[in-house]
Amino acid sequence: MAGIDGRGVDTMAQLGGISTMLQERDQYEEPAMPNEIDQTHDAKIESWVESANDTSSDFPIQNLPYCAFFSENSGLMPTCGVRIGDFVLDFEPLVEAGLIQVGVGLDATYFCTLSAEERRELRRVVFDLLRADNGELRDRKALVRRALLPVGEVEFGVPVQIGDYTDFYASLYHATNVGSMFRPDNPILPNYKHIPIGYHGRASSIVASGMPVRRPRGQLLPGATIADGEPVFGPCKLLDYEMEVGFFIGGGNEPGEPIAIEDAEDCIVGMCLVNDWSARDMQKWEYVPLGPFLAKSFSTTVSPYIVTMDALAPFRCEATKRAEGDPEPLGYLDSEANRKAGGVDITLEVYLQSAQMRERGMDAVRLSRGSFKDMYWTISQFVAHHSSNGCNLQAGDLLASGTVSGPTRDTRGCLLELTWDGDPWAAEPVVVPGTQRTPIELPTGEQRRFLADGDELIMKGYCEREGYRRIGFGECRGVIEPATE
Ligand code: CA
Repeated sequence: MAGIDGRGVDTMAQLGGISTMLQERDQYEEPAMPNEIDQTHDAKIESWVESANDTSSDFPIQNLPYCAFFSENSGLMPTCGVRIGDFVLDFEPLVEAGLIQVGVGLDATYFCTLSAEERRELRRVVFDLLRADNGELRDRKALVRRALLPVGEVEFGVPVQIGDYTDFYASLYHATNVGSMFRPDNPILPNYKHIPIGYHGRASSIVASGMPVRRPRGQLLPGATIADGEPVFGPCKLLDYEMEVGFFIGGGNEPGEPIAIEDAEDCIVGMCLVNDWSARDMQKWEYVPLGPFLAKSFSTTVSPYIVTMDALAPFRCEATKRAEGDPEPLGYLDSEANRKAGGVDITLEVYLQSAQMRERGMDAVRLSRGSFKDMYWTISQFVAHHSSNGCNLQAGDLLASGTVSGPTRDTRGCLLELTWDGDPWAAEPVVVPGTQRTPIELPTGEQRRFLADGDELIMKGYCEREGYRRIGFGECRGVIEPATE
């Protein structure tokens, strides 16, 4: 029986495959900070689940992202497992069969209650059970039928019960673009390069990919300022998406005890895609002086998988180098490991399919392709900063990065930036805010400045690196439904 209860290597060594794996680990390259590269990243190893070996799959045996799903066997609460190829592996039958041991219940907070070492052991155990040359699970046909469910037969939920949700604003490109629109003379405020700017979001309205999103109603100004007319209450006219990356907290900290930046990675279970739906007209009116409120809290969509920090180990990269003249971060936001490997190179793509495109059988069009490595602040800095005042982070909290935008137009992570009729890197002066926006042309001839009812927004994320299997995040989807009457 495999232990994932933190009892360590002695327990693990009872398993032939695992002990071999531990012995073999030395042959892989030097541990990459902060997560080590081991046999579970070996691109040569295949699974007996054939669809996982397709090189275009987001879900090879090297990925094994956590998910929660409803199936024929699950009750009112979703069951936990991992995605592998075109299937999900349900942990419950494996626990019953004694192939996986859980120290705590398999409930909706399960993944976030495991310690970093327990998560690593779980990954090794599941990897071993699924590898092509191991018959331990493969050859138990009745058990495989119960545990390995085609993705078409399950419905994914939010991967864990989210307690609190915090959203950051960590792309300097995004902050510069948005700042240039609303404060052309002063786009970046003096705190931006000192503080990872964030605000407390709303956890209750976070939904799983595929749930429709209702256009919100709220207070809107008819003109550019209140001088042009009093506010009215009605359906949002400038509905937008924000392409973000989120991550889930494991463990957490006691109130009053900050998490040091050196320990931050141990508190991060893994990452997902986040769509921070944004009502720009409501936001513009309400955000002064306390920041976003109802413009954001109506809905946030997350992708159904937690791609673990262990799976992401080969795709870590240097944190963004600060430009000459930028301030160095204060000590509690700075570490050598963070500078060397605080970044994560995740390619992020956004697609749109209008109702008309769907009816005419046209594929969604790509609006942007950026990378998470372009962020100014890192995930470790988010954790260190968030807890620096003694605020306790808890298992299952979701922290999101803020819109991921890069240096070029095609890397911009929201429509506010993409359709903006101006460019801070162009030689021409910035266009006055509130003037015309450059619409996006869809293949039907339709135009979009912001989202229309019936539009489906699809986000995708994946990691690629020479010598490693590509791993993906799956999709984060949502269709816009009309506002209530
Ligand atoms: Ca946001």
